[in-house]
Amino acid sequence: MSNEGFNRAKPVVGRFAPSPTGRMHAGNVFAALTAWLVAKSQGGRIVLRIEDLDRERSKPAFADAVRRDFETLGLTWDEGPYFQHDRDEAYRAAFESLKQRGLVYPCFCTRADLHAASAPHRGEKPVYPGTCRALTDAERALRAQTRTPAQRLIVPDATVAFDDLVQGPYAQNLARDCGDFLVRRSDSAFAYQLAVVVDDAAQGVNSVVRGVDLLCSTPQQMHLQTLLGLPRPSYAHIPLITSERDRRLSKRDRDASLDALLARFKTPASVIGHIAGLTGLAPTCDPATPEELLASFDVTALPGTLKDLVQINWQ
Ligand code: GLU
Repeated sequence: MSNEGFNRAKPVVGRFAPSPTGRMHAGNVFAALTAWLVAKSQGGRIVLRIEDLDRERSKPAFADAVRRDFETLGLTWDEGPYFQHDRDEAYRAAFESLKQRGLVYPCFCTRADLHAASAPHRGEKPVYPGTCRALTDAERALRAQTRTPAQRLIVPDATVAFDDLVQGPYAQNLARDCGDFLVRRSDSAFAYQLAVVVDDAAQGVNSVVRGVDLLCSTPQQMHLQTLLGLPRPSYAHIPLITSERDRRLSKRDRDASLDALLARFKTPASVIGHIAGLTGLAPTCDPATPEELLASFDVTALPGTLKDLVQINWQ
């Protein structure tokens, strides 16, 4: 595969985009470390964005903890932190622009909110069958008396294809593989897909590195970028670190949480070195700071290192 994508845009602006819903775990550290190495090895910068759209699950204490965790690990950022809770006006402007073009409709389905404000991870995304798309104005008015609707974007029967810098070519037919997707929840919070594209554009992010569980969200985000006239970053979706029985790590996996990692490995450099060695970012698991890893990191070798790793078992 061509590696041109890694050098396509200068200066490179990458991002850390943690959701403050728990302490970081090894998978979050791997994603942040990779994003940092990809940006820094190209002379780029890192933006820190706290993705606290989900007001119920996000806690200020976790937002503080995540910043301390990055600092402890030597994962520095150059700009931010930006908070999604400050960005409602920007999301509203994007939403209104879609609405004015008749691309949005109210959805009264009761399961509509399930994955709207949090990033939907692979295997969890149902294809919306379009139930509320063709309701008449009268039906909408009637239903609105008993339920505040969510808002969905009408997607065309069109394929979005792109070259992921790690996974290679990827394509999705929006109507068949995804369906009309939420841009706003019934509690009026804007949905993850909308917020993330508005933020990436506003913050100048042109290099997105994140877990492969978000690969299936990328065509939706690209479709929104096209509709909103926003630039398209490069995307690199990296393998997930999984715990026992191939389950992806979650913030509930205590043994891979940063506190547990620091207790087990004693120093931040040992944690970074272990994760780098385990995932192939470094040839050994020897302790190393991100700065030290940078010296031997070759961004063009990243696809070769990570491409065929579907997942990495945490050890
Ligand atoms: N905030 C998301 C997460 O922590 C990441 C979203 C993204 O990288 O686009 O899972």
